[in-house]
Amino acid sequence: MRGTTLFLAPPGTRGRTDIIFGEIVSCSPDNNFSDVLYLGPNAPYLTSVRRQFFSYVKRVLGKTAYIPFESRTIKQLALSLYQVSGQAEIVSDELRTLILLKIIGEKNLGYATLLSELYSKIKHHIVDKPLDGVKKEIGSLIVEDRARERALESIDVLQAYEDELRRKKLTDSEGILRECLPLIRGGLPPALLVLDGFLDPTPLETAIIRELIDNSGSAIILAEENTSLAGLAGDSRTFKVKKLKAAQQMNPRSYVLYPSMEEEVSGIVKSVKKLLMDGVQPWEVTISFPELSKYVSMVTRVCKKHGVPVSVIGHNASASQPVIVLQELITCIEEDYPRNDFLSLLTSPFNAAIPAAVKEWAVSFSYRAGIIKGKEAWLSIEKTLKNEARELSGPESTRIAEFQEGIKNIIDILEQVRHQRELSSFIDAFESALNSLGYPDGGGRELADGENDFSARLNMLLAEVRQFAALYGDSPKPDEFPGFYLRYLLEGLGSAEAAPGGVRIVPFPLAAAIETRELFFGGMIEGDFPSKPGIDPILPEQVKKALGLPYLEYYLSRQRKYFDRLLNISERPPRFSCPAADREKIFLPSPFLDWEQKQDPVAWDIYSQEEVLVREGILGIRGMDSGKRQNSGMTLGSAGAAFIQKKFRGYINVTDIDYYRKCPFRFYIEKVLGLEIVEPPRFEVEARLWGSLAHKTMEHLFRDGDIDIESIEHRLFHALESGLQQFPVGDFWSGVARDIFSRLLPGLKELETERKNQEYTVWMVEQKLSAEINGIKLKGKVDRVDVKRQRTEARAKGPGALTTDNRQRITDSGATVILLDYKTGNIDRDSLQLPLYALMWKETYPESIDRVGYYSLKEAGISWYPGKAGMDAYLSGAFAEAAALVRSMRDGNFPAAPFRPVECRNCGHGPLCNRVI
Ligand code: SF4
Repeated sequence: MRGTTLFLAPPGTRGRTDIIFGEIVSCSPDNNFSDVLYLGPNAPYLTSVRRQFFSYVKRVLGKTAYIPFESRTIKQLALSLYQVSGQAEIVSDELRTLILLKIIGEKNLGYATLLSELYSKIKHHIVDKPLDGVKKEIGSLIVEDRARERALESIDVLQAYEDELRRKKLTDSEGILRECLPLIRGGLPPALLVLDGFLDPTPLETAIIRELIDNSGSAIILAEENTSLAGLAGDSRTFKVKKLKAAQQMNPRSYVLYPSMEEEVSGIVKSVKKLLMDGVQPWEVTISFPELSKYVSMVTRVCKKHGVPVSVIGHNASASQPVIVLQELITCIEEDYPRNDFLSLLTSPFNAAIPAAVKEWAVSFSYRAGIIKGKEAWLSIEKTLKNEARELSGPESTRIAEFQEGIKNIIDILEQVRHQRELSSFIDAFESALNSLGYPDGGGRELADGENDFSARLNMLLAEVRQFAALYGDSPKPDEFPGFYLRYLLEGLGSAEAAPGGVRIVPFPLAAAIETRELFFGGMIEGDFPSKPGIDPILPEQVKKALGLPYLEYYLSRQRKYFDRLLNISERPPRFSCPAADREKIFLPSPFLDWEQKQDPVAWDIYSQEEVLVREGILGIRGMDSGKRQNSGMTLGSAGAAFIQKKFRGYINVTDIDYYRKCPFRFYIEKVLGLEIVEPPRFEVEARLWGSLAHKTMEHLFRDGDIDIESIEHRLFHALESGLQQFPVGDFWSGVARDIFSRLLPGLKELETERKNQEYTVWMVEQKLSAEINGIKLKGKVDRVDVKRQRTEARAKGPGALTTDNRQRITDSGATVILLDYKTGNIDRDSLQLPLYALMWKETYPESIDRVGYYSLKEAGISWYPGKAGMDAYLSGAFAEAAALVRSMRDGNFPAAPFRPVECRNCGHGPLCNRVI
């Protein structure tokens, strides 16, 4: 070794990397830096260094072309050395956890993960002792029997793991690191070794660094004071130490307290936007949080809203959109297509081959069909929607059929995966399903940070699963789902290289190492910063300390040191912040902050386009005069009125008139414009679906005429099963429907017995009616007509056969009827449905009407009409009201005038008619 220069940097030293770059350039005057090995702590740090070096060469030397240096992490360097001469197959850290899982023979990933971490720590921190030596020491350190037994058993598992590696000719990242020491000694040394950014290397890494320094032509080390790297100088007289000048210490402890996390993120992003508007470049700004995963999606969303470019660096990719889609795909095949996961899969832009019609209608149709989960429910959407009480237009019917076809094809693709029991065939089928779905396509949109090289990373991950399948996967236990392994590996999917040029969003250890002009450090709440590691059920803290492994105080003091660096890392004073609460949860600021120096958020005059539009909308409505607001709604001009005349010129459905009566404006939105708010089905049978099922059940019950009271129970449940064939609501809700009818049964028996005692028998079910009354053409379908015979008619055919002949005979007999309308919800006493059915009946049939009634399938009771006023007054009053409504509708009047205020309670159109303001 020719010489080593150690640049010792006090906290807050500015321009440190420029000093190192100057040294590199002076050693390589011909712009060929290929002899330089630049070693950094992690890949994002090195990426940042390479970019800075490019700009340094351009800025200082005025050149853009040069042969770059080799940049590596210690792990990457060890891997490249091992690949030249190593014999064993390499397994990743994630595969180590899965191998440990196989060794312990459980499905408990938590314990296997702890063991994997313990193994890594032992190998990194106890460099000179094999596992049996560590086991002996643990045995002497733990006094309590059960704790000692547990700890020793864990070490036995780790020994079994090492034996397994030997037997199967495998090695892992710690094995490679250990084996690289002799390889460094015997390898080709770099002319210049540069060490930069190492804040707390482990003893194993320090040993490798030392070996590298000893075997390089010369070395430059940039180390902070009081770090283990700085301590290397004390070991060697050959080190030339240069102390860099410290910048003025800022040491600010003040912080901004925001009411909530969302407001904190909004405040940070608006402050960043203000800086950008003042001329600061995005890459000169860094945002970080102690728990980045809690904030990263919120920050990127708010930055996007404000047009602030971001580069997310060093963050695990498992929460990124493309990975979430894969996890949802696994959930779909594992848990029988739960609605939200399947909808997310169907509508994802990454699945380019899913037909546009499926993407567009998936949410609406699944909500309307009341799907909670279940393959059968998805495959029955068409049946369910077409069996619904309401009428479907031709185009809608075609759309539903196309949608159903698309869903069927997608489920066929996923079922191919579901049926694979062996891991290797599962992965093949999974990959083939992704191809069939057109994954991963960005759907024409620009892929976000971390998504660009996603295909390559996914292929590596699938190769890793195949590697595990070759080692262990093709002899699954009966209850083992192969997707379990894939899901686990997806959770550990590393971050991608971020697109350059945006505001840097980084984990806090990285924030403490990179130079920046502005630093925003949010989320500083007690418990998150400093945070404690989870409780270790294997080794007590004191034992870890005695063994030389990281223990609780180590983690706490490490965070303290990182915070001290953060205080001086940026050119401008860092801006700390924290939220006061997250919904019900109240937070305290981090103890690192000075609680006396709390500041209120600045109210920036900066708004996103979305905020401007919402505000304009609110002000626009508030600005209306009260009369206008009161009469909001829709009155159509002549062209609109002509359209309405045409739309409602023929027969008009009685239910439409009644819907218009309840609120003309809602009628306009839903029935004229065809815009409907479809709510996601809750964990209950959706009201409309339950109504349709109950109607269908009663129709099946009386389809063949009257029935004996003794057989009603058997027939009712038989009818319900027929109804469930048409409305497949899934096993759970089928059970609920059976329970509801069981509860109703005694009441229904009573009602039907009373009707029989009054000599009524069922005559017609789901009977269509139509008539023209005083120039208004009406149509509708009455649920049931019961008849009272005046004399015994001779039935031409067997009992129960309702033929035209039979009807004719009854008609001839001068019978009277009752009209019944089934209701599964509350009964609306002002409804026009029954009186209008009665009017149409009167126009069509000679039998006089005794009464009409709403037959409640909620409470098993019948509300009879008319009251004291008599049938004629009841019908003429209803017709006058209906005629006025039809005239108003045809004239194009659609005011927001609900029949009762209660209509607005369950209506989602409030924002359109100012009822919510
Ligand atoms: S909120 Fe009320 S007034 Fe507005 S559309 Fe709905 S029912 Fe009508």
